[in-house]
Parts: sequence; C-alpha cells; structure tokens
Amino acid sequence: MNEACKNASIQCTVSQCRYNLVTEDYCGLDCIHVGTHEADPTVPECVDCNSFVKRTDG
Ligand code: SF4
Repeated sequence: MNEACKNASIQCTVSQCRYNLVTEDYCGLDCIHVGTHEADPTVPECVDCNSFVKRTDG
C-alpha cells in the first residue's frame, strides 16, 4: 500500500488517520473497507471507515 500517493476517488478529512494525506483531504490507500457499528444504520454517523489506523507520528 502506498500511503504517500493520493487516491482521487477517496476523499477523507480524518487527519488523525495515518493514511490521510492531510494537506489535500484525501486517502492514500488504494481501497478502503467501510462498515457499520449499528444493527440498522440510518444516517452517515452510523457507518465507519474500518481501514482507519491512528496516526502515531504526531
Ligand atoms: S483509511 Fe479511512 S479514515 Fe483513513 S484516510 Fe483513508 S478513508 Fe480516511
């Protein structure tokens, strides 16, 4: 996986994620896994990017 290359198909503003480009609000992964923590999701807040990994470099 190339974390430094912007994936123009995946916009993301989660700057706390190690895969986020931060300066461009894009994800650097080739693909992501999206899921839900709800039994019956109804609003965007119900779904999650399960590819998220907390940034550890500050
Ligand atoms: S892995 Fe998910 S949370 Fe992280 S930058 Fe990509 S889309 Fe955003």
